[in-house]
Amino acid sequence: MTGTDSRALILEGPPGISEARVHDYAHRYGPIKDIVVTPDVPMIVEGSEDNDQEDEENRLRKSAVRIEFKDMKDAAAAARSLKDHGATLAGAIPIEPANMKSTWVRFKWPQVTRAAWIHYSSIAEAKTMAEKLHGSFFRGKKITASSLRPDKRQKDLFAIKLERLPADTTREDLVDISQNSRLITMSELTYTARPREVFQQSAGVKFFVNIPEDPTKLSAVAFACLDSEDSILRAIQMHGTKLKLIGKQELTVERVWFVQYSLLTDVFKSVSTEVAALQIRYEGRVQVESRDFGDHYMVYLHAHHEETETFVQANLSLQAICHGLIVVALDDQPEWDDYLYSTSSIKVIENLNTKNSFYIFPNLSTRQIHIFGCGIEQDKGVSTIKKLLQRVRGSCREYPIHRNVIRQLIDGGLTEIQAAVGANKLSLDVIRSVLIVRGENSVLMQKIHHLLDFLPSKENLKRSRQLCSICKLKSGGSERNPTVKLLCGHVYCGACLKNALIYAAQNHFAPVKCISPGPAYDLERGSICGQPIAYTTARDLLPLLMEPDYLKVAFLSFIHSSLDEYFFCPSLQCNTVYRRRESETIICCPICRAWLCLFCGSMSHDGITCEKAKEMRVNIPRRC
Ligand SMILES: [Zn+2]
Ligand SMILES: [Zn+2]
Ligand SMILES: [Zn+2]
Ligand SMILES: [Zn+2]
Repeated sequence: MTGTDSRALILEGPPGISEARVHDYAHRYGPIKDIVVTPDVPMIVEGSEDNDQEDEENRLRKSAVRIEFKDMKDAAAAARSLKDHGATLAGAIPIEPANMKSTWVRFKWPQVTRAAWIHYSSIAEAKTMAEKLHGSFFRGKKITASSLRPDKRQKDLFAIKLERLPADTTREDLVDISQNSRLITMSELTYTARPREVFQQSAGVKFFVNIPEDPTKLSAVAFACLDSEDSILRAIQMHGTKLKLIGKQELTVERVWFVQYSLLTDVFKSVSTEVAALQIRYEGRVQVESRDFGDHYMVYLHAHHEETETFVQANLSLQAICHGLIVVALDDQPEWDDYLYSTSSIKVIENLNTKNSFYIFPNLSTRQIHIFGCGIEQDKGVSTIKKLLQRVRGSCREYPIHRNVIRQLIDGGLTEIQAAVGANKLSLDVIRSVLIVRGENSVLMQKIHHLLDFLPSKENLKRSRQLCSICKLKSGGSERNPTVKLLCGHVYCGACLKNALIYAAQNHFAPVKCISPGPAYDLERGSICGQPIAYTTARDLLPLLMEPDYLKVAFLSFIHSSLDEYFFCPSLQCNTVYRRRESETIICCPICRAWLCLFCGSMSHDGITCEKAKEMRVNIPRRC
């Protein structure tokens, strides 16, 4: 099951509803496994908080109904149908139909500032200082300064007024820039309320995105996704009002298109010129902004809601930038090598990334290599990684060995050789019965020479049914090496199978399947039994720390074998898995907060259909 899947629905029902009644209603969607009705759940009626007396009477009692279907698909169909009829579903990720119309508004209001008055001994001095300070930058903020017309009776203390000072400015800060001032006085903050919190709590807000304040700008900005046309109209009615909340200054509310993307800091740095170019290309029609969050950057894209076409183009271009270039092999399939899972590869690639202007990102979930950077840099990145993989593959040789040798290797022989030549130089895949040698090493070759030349005595070829399928020897049945009989009836030594499981977890070959000969009628084709090793068996044999690795690898290879049904979250740094839906459905990934389409499996394409987005993506240049 994926994050958006569930076999169970939780509904609110009228008081006293019976299980039979629920069954009558729900069984049309498919076979039901279980129904639980929990009566008398106190429920607060909306809008009743103001009046205590009414509150008591209005406090209805409702039933909580939990329906569990046998099949996930039936539960999903029931959920969709009930939702269409206005029923409330709890405990599920909010799912949206594809957005053809914008549902976002932008709130924009002045940032909190202070004013200050600086007094000088002469008018001339005050005027010179006002001219000097007006439009200058004070701690990253552009401030204004004006000299105040003096009173006729005024003999000394001629003031200038500074405005738009950062909220935390102190008198001491001003002493440094004011030269020979006689007196400095400061105003209160323009407002002390927290407008972001108030906007976020307004009725109908489903998602709220705070954009951290940019000290070089005057305004603060936030975006809200609203639940209905009514809520949008209500929000827009606030446009142009002078709110007390923000010191009686003007609030701007506009209906907009809005998306945001999270990028790893290193990725952002390698695409920042492309993002800047995008900003220039759409200047005045679509705004592209980014903010640094330490380990990642957020990139925000927004446009007036009537600029749909331009927004769609800018959004797809930004998605292409954030996605980078995928390295492909000669057959046009994504280039991949399991070497990229190794810790040594992480170090090698880290080193390449710091030395160059491109950025190589091997996505361990999707098994694709992304290259970020500008034009020629991207090309350089592609050839660099290809050369690296070529070198790795070239230095790796596989030597088939007779299965009878395996037992001796597992019993300490392998560890002994590894201790002499280095653990990463030699490994053993017991399932395929091969030794894997990395690099040129004559000492190692000498040590394994006798293993490669081993010939079995005829004796061992008989009695195959009782022999371990891995080492083709009679399994010991001892405490240290128990005999394991699988559900399919085939027999293995515990030690052999354990070795196979560990190798699978470390080298991404899970799940391990039974390699004993398959049914007699298939023997000619050399087929194997193929029964996956039961989880309980794997759990009993694997070291505790290795179990999660094994499960993860097994899960990932299951997903890779059913990519028409599942897909990975399109965010690079997110490995959430989703089940595809049969219609355009937009959700916000609860892990990485990216908006994605459950139908096409790509980033959300607000303003256009999946089909149109697919068509347009082909024509979007993937590079600068
Ligand atoms: Zn064995
Ligand atoms: Zn079997
Ligand atoms: Zn995600
Ligand atoms: Zn789609």
